[in-house]
Amino acid sequence: MSFPLHPVIALDGTAASGKSTFARALARRLAFVYVNTGAMYRGVTWYLLEKEIPVQDEAVVAQAMKEMKLETRFRPGEFTFLIDGIDPQRHLREGRVNQAVSAVSQVAEVRHLLVAEQRLLADLSPLVMEGRDIGTVVFPETPYKLFLDADVEVRAARRSHQGETDMIRQRDILDSQRRNSPLTLAPDALSLDSGQDSVDTLVEKALVHLAAKGLEIPVAS
Ligand code: C5P
Repeated sequence: MSFPLHPVIALDGTAASGKSTFARALARRLAFVYVNTGAMYRGVTWYLLEKEIPVQDEAVVAQAMKEMKLETRFRPGEFTFLIDGIDPQRHLREGRVNQAVSAVSQVAEVRHLLVAEQRLLADLSPLVMEGRDIGTVVFPETPYKLFLDADVEVRAARRSHQGETDMIRQRDILDSQRRNSPLTLAPDALSLDSGQDSVDTLVEKALVHLAAKGLEIPVAS
């Protein structure tokens, strides 16, 4: 595996633990680009659902991956992507996507395609990349690893506050027990709890850890 050209902060964690809010805040503080890999798995899931592909059928999903065209791009400070020329952003939190995304994410061909794209991004810019396997599989060599969790009640309350139906417990089980790249805490990751700490405190704790690992932290503006 080749070493990425730019530093990567790998942020993994459980469903609805507040990874996106934290990752965005950390990326802003460091002036890194924020990449949400969950959005990529959600985008693929939306694409398959739109095509009425049976998402439980791994062989059919694998075949569909060969026909799908994924384009990635950076907007200032943020990463976006198109699938077959369409931006799926507004569909990513649909209930049907929440329900199917963990099944789709188990399929080796889906992971293979998305992980390859994710690795390429670190040649373009310093990144804060959030997901489930970033510190363990996508960039195991990065020294900058964080893991975010909170009690399941705290996480469920967060989703319901956002007005979403999300089976976070089921997603956690599927994501942690799958054969391909399960969600696990990398031994060298700093573990953080979003039920205990505010976003500002999480960022401060992360910066102390990242500085100790050798990352140059820009002076706050
Ligand atoms: O982070 P988010 O909850 O949006 O991720 C949606 C789903 O995408 C997860 O439940 C998981 O099944 C999958 N995922 C993954 N690997 C990643 C990011 C997300 O398998 N790196």
